[in-house]
Amino acid sequence: MGMKLSELGEFGLIKRISREPQREGVVAGIGDDAAVIKDGEEFILYTTDIIVEDSHFRKEWCPPEKIGRKAMVSNISDIAAMGGIPEYALVSIALRSDTEAEFVGSVYKGMYDVADRYGVDIIGGDTTHGSLMVINVVVTGRTDKEHLTLRSGAKTGDYILVSGPLGGSKAGLELLKMGYREPKGPIEKHLDPGCRMDIARDVAVFASAMIDVSDGLASEVRHICEESGVGAIIERERIPLDRETIKAGKILEMDPYDFALHGGEDYELVFTVPEENLDRVRRYGTVVGRIMDKDMGVMIENGEIMDLKGGYEHFREDRR
Ligand code: ADP
Ligand code: MG
Repeated sequence: MGMKLSELGEFGLIKRISREPQREGVVAGIGDDAAVIKDGEEFILYTTDIIVEDSHFRKEWCPPEKIGRKAMVSNISDIAAMGGIPEYALVSIALRSDTEAEFVGSVYKGMYDVADRYGVDIIGGDTTHGSLMVINVVVTGRTDKEHLTLRSGAKTGDYILVSGPLGGSKAGLELLKMGYREPKGPIEKHLDPGCRMDIARDVAVFASAMIDVSDGLASEVRHICEESGVGAIIERERIPLDRETIKAGKILEMDPYDFALHGGEDYELVFTVPEENLDRVRRYGTVVGRIMDKDMGVMIENGEIMDLKGGYEHFREDRR
């Protein structure tokens, strides 16, 4: 019979269900961090993220406020990755009937904290009951031509930069799974990530492509390559890791570079810049590789040059 999602994977499924937009004005639809709709001289951005109890968060590890913060920040990160400014949010929740109202209040406190920080208004949503808690947030934003940065603009020869250390969130998740409550840095990064709205607009002016790290560096670089029709090479040793992530790797006997490449939820930015712009963005990130011709594929150098395998993907049985 039909193909199971575990074989198709998240991205295979999205390809299968997507179709060409019928309306005018869609500058980017499925395939970027946010959809981009032309609005006069400007662009409106739309993004959404859904989180499900026990697959994306566990109540016993994560206080409700942080659940709310993360649900909001992951969307704002997608607006940042487009070079946009977030504006409005819609929040839909499914809750079990035995949930305490105070719990939901705390989730919302977290969402409002983050929304206030980035100037976002929650202007609607939906509330229903379900057997698991689910939170879906939609965020809209706005940008102009100078700042709009798609995944599809990378060119051969561009440098690939990341805005900060990677792998912390995955290190934190692995620590929690194994029952550790230290080191605190990675655990906090997992439970209460930030996003790089602080630099995104400045980087956007010079970047040819940009994406945020939700599924791991390998996956994000692949997305840029696919959308831009190019290849890439990443130098493993150049990937920035912080001290506590390395420490977590030692404790867990796991390779911290794998956290960075295949973990995700770091919400740093990955961006590409042409050589002539490199000096203008150096202070915002670390060079980790170069964009290559498409026929070179997407590679990683670590002594030898190998295929850069994908990152986290929902439904996959072989997911990391
Ligand atoms: P991100 O990690 O930036 O949130 P995703 O990897 O989740 O992006 O999604 C990739 C692209 O596929 C995005 O453009 C997103 O809007 C689109 N997409 C994901 N799920 C669906 C769906 N069920 N229907 C239509 N488009 C989807
Ligand atoms: Mg994204």
